[in-house]
Formats: sequence, structure tokens, C-alpha cells
Amino acid sequence: MDVRVRFAPSPTGYLHVGGLRTALYNYLFAKKHGGKCILRIEDTDRTRFVENATENLIENLRWAGIEFDESLEKEGEFGPYIQSERFDLYTKYGKELLEKDLAYYAFDTSEELEAMRERLKQEGGSFKYDRNKMRNSITLGKEEAEKLIAAGEDYVIRMKVPEEGEVRFKDIIRGEVKVPCKDVDDQILLKSDGFPTYHLANVVDDHFMQISHVIRGEEWLPSTPKHVLLYQFFGWDTPDFAHLPLLLNEKKAKLSKRHGDVAVEDFRAKGYLRDAFVNFIALLGWNPTGDREIYSMQELIDLFDLSKVNKAGAVFDLKKLAWMNQQYLKELPTSEAVPVLKAELEKHEVTGLEDNYIAQVFELFKERVTFISEIPEMTSYLYTEPTEFDEKYMAKRWKEDTADMVKPLIEKLSQLEEFTHDSTHDLTKAHCEEADVKMGQLMHPLRLMLTGISSGAGMFDTMALIGKDRCIKRFETFLAKKESGEI
Ligand code: GLU
Repeated sequence: MDVRVRFAPSPTGYLHVGGLRTALYNYLFAKKHGGKCILRIEDTDRTRFVENATENLIENLRWAGIEFDESLEKEGEFGPYIQSERFDLYTKYGKELLEKDLAYYAFDTSEELEAMRERLKQEGGSFKYDRNKMRNSITLGKEEAEKLIAAGEDYVIRMKVPEEGEVRFKDIIRGEVKVPCKDVDDQILLKSDGFPTYHLANVVDDHFMQISHVIRGEEWLPSTPKHVLLYQFFGWDTPDFAHLPLLLNEKKAKLSKRHGDVAVEDFRAKGYLRDAFVNFIALLGWNPTGDREIYSMQELIDLFDLSKVNKAGAVFDLKKLAWMNQQYLKELPTSEAVPVLKAELEKHEVTGLEDNYIAQVFELFKERVTFISEIPEMTSYLYTEPTEFDEKYMAKRWKEDTADMVKPLIEKLSQLEEFTHDSTHDLTKAHCEEADVKMGQLMHPLRLMLTGISSGAGMFDTMALIGKDRCIKRFETFLAKKESGEI
């Protein structure tokens, strides 16, 4: 069997992280099996139309490295299948079910439906459409129904779910699922405005697009019995299903917009690296080996196995995501980091630096941060001379005799021809041995004079980056301020 899968988002305005996981699993599954992965925009609900939503979806999917097959060529531009351009097809098949007596017209107003729900609630029964007591072509008869339509009355077309029996289907993740027909609602297929509902359009498209596996979120599981019945009504083969586990927040509640970020673009804006983010998303509900966390896209493809996806909800653990980002940041090629860091520095009004300098800053700090955007603030002394000195650090590390202790070392440093990590290190070490002081006793005063703060990269790396002349000048300025009592 040819593997053909689809990602079928509704254009809500943004790509939800759960949507990205669904898209990714479809993509991994297609690639693994040499199949095709199709993008289909399910925009049948025109009341929820959002401007540019499709473009936004495509842009974010592309960013994530997910590519689709069989895109419609539109003036040379990439374009997915769009349901609103295919309405005639759904109407045709909705009407076909009417002819086969597997669907019927219903004329109930929203008030009548509300009253029905209220009555069913009182009776403590189900909330299914009560087809034998409502105004439809079953209770009124076909002729009467046609008269009403001719008179211009609003109507919908509902599927006629069998009264007896059960619907069965195989879910690759959940095993066999059985639902009694009496629990399946007479779903509306065509709405009063003539537009199809998600259910009809989804089944018709999956059939004509020859989808072999429907891989989607668990929230669609309750809809699947209706879909399976529709396949049977049409006499079409049913695809295999796989319903992916829900995404949960750290409190084990469903991940929702009300409790923080859920849009892929929010995470991008925060500075998560693409590969780290995709790696993290891939492990929401599945781990290929169980003993490691870092996988390239190719490894994910090679190892992908739908039947190993968990049933239980997957926790969207922000701490793990941060950790993942650090792992990728450490390995990020410096050439890729430089433009990002440059842009971040510009936000702090630091401009005019050479790329080589920015590259060295990145090298020194990449293991100390989660995001590149954290670097500018913690490294301001690498761009401007420090004017403030951490009082606590100074009180702890600068004693009466410190100035006299550092002066001879500064003198020696000023004589160095080559001012590198190794040369400053070796000189300082030799000096300490000779003067019989511990390195630590001198390193903190050097750091204080040079940076004004207690934390940073290694002292010799920092000195080499700042350069001899600027270092010596800073030492001298600090000592002068100390002597004059300014600090
Ligand atoms: N349009 C549905 C959604 O927004 C698609 C569900 C499915 O894949 O069948 O998620």
C-alpha cells in the first residue's frame, strides 16, 4: 500500500505546538515509508476566517523544516489544497447520501434545537439529535420536506446513523475502538448556508486524496465513529487511524492559550533554535530509543514508529525545552550564531563590532546561556568600559594590600608582546609562584577591575578578547579611582 498522509489544519491564525507535533509525525511517517505528505487547509467554517492564517501556517511549517508533497502550483508559488475551493465536491457527495437514504433534511431552528437539548437534559439522556421527535424529512415525510424547501425554509442535511449495531475501527496507537451506534450523533453534513461541515469535507477529501493513514490529535477521536460510518455509507475503504496523545501543561491540564504560549511563533520569538524545538516537539509522546534525547531529523525519520507512540498525554515541559536549546546552542556553528548575536546586540545599541569579535563573544558564552539573547546584557563590559563596580564583590575581594599585590602583575602584563589566553595565563602563573601568592587571590581583583562584576567567562579568555591596551587602561583607571577614594 502506498503511504499517503496529510496535515489538515484549520486556519485559526497561528500554528499551535500540538499542530506542529501532528504535522511532524505525519511528515516523519511519510518519509520513513517513502510516502507522500500533503497539506490541506480545512477552512469550511467561514465564520472563523482569519486573514493571512494560511500564510502564517505555511511559514511556520517551513521554518520547522517540514516539507509537503503535491502542493498546488499557484503562479509558481507554493500552495496547499484548500477546502473552500472544493465546495462543489462536498455538496455532490452530501446529496448522494440523501439519494441513498443515508442522510436527511432537517429544518429545526436554533430555538427548537435548544428546547430539545433542554428536554434531553431533563430526561437525563444523551445529547444526540433526537431525530424521531424533530422537524425533518423523516418525521415530516419527503414530500412535505420538499415543499418546505421550495418555500425557502432553511435546512441542513444530517447523516442517518443506524439505530443498531456498533462502529469499529483500528487505531494504531489505541488498538481496536468500538462505539455503539446509539452513541453516535446524526452529524450535520451540509449546513444551512450550503457549506459542508468539517466531517463531510474531511472524509470526502481523505478518500479522493487517497489518504492511507489519518494521523491526528486525540481530540478528534470522538469524531472518528462518524467518519467511519461515512466511509461505509459511501462504500469507500477506511484509512488507518492514529490519534496522538494530548499535550499537557506542567500541571497535567490540557495545554491551552490561557496558560501561556502555545503558538510556534511565540517560541521562535523567544529565540528557541529551530532544531532544538523540533527535536523537543518530536519527543512529545514518543522516544525512539528511550536512552537519549538528541536526534537529528534524519534519525527521527529512520526511527519513527507510530505503534510506539504513547496513549497517555505528553507533558510540555519548558525546563526540558530550555535544556534542549542549550544542547543545540553549544553545537551551533559560530557562523550561524554571529548574525543572531549581532541583531541582539543592536537591540542593546551595541553596533560597529567586527564579526570576528562577535564570534569570540559567542564562543565564550554559548555554554552559559539558554538563549543568544541573554548574552548582550551579561557582557556589556566587552563593549564599553565598566563604570560601576559590584560593591559586594569589591568588599569581599579587594583588601588593603590588594593594590600592591596586583601592581607588579599588571606591570608584567603590560610588557607582554603577545596577549593571548595562554601567554597571560602562563605569565600570571609564573608570577604567582614567584611572589608566593595563590592565583585565586589575584584573579578576582583582575576580574573586578576589568569587568566590574563577579561572573563571566574565564579571566584569561576575557583578557585576551578585550586586548592588552584596553585591559591595562582599565586596571589603571580602577587603581586611580581607588587611590582617590572615588570607589
Ligand atoms: N481541521 C482539523 C484540525 O483543525 C483536522 C483534523 C483531522 O486531521 O482530521 O485539526
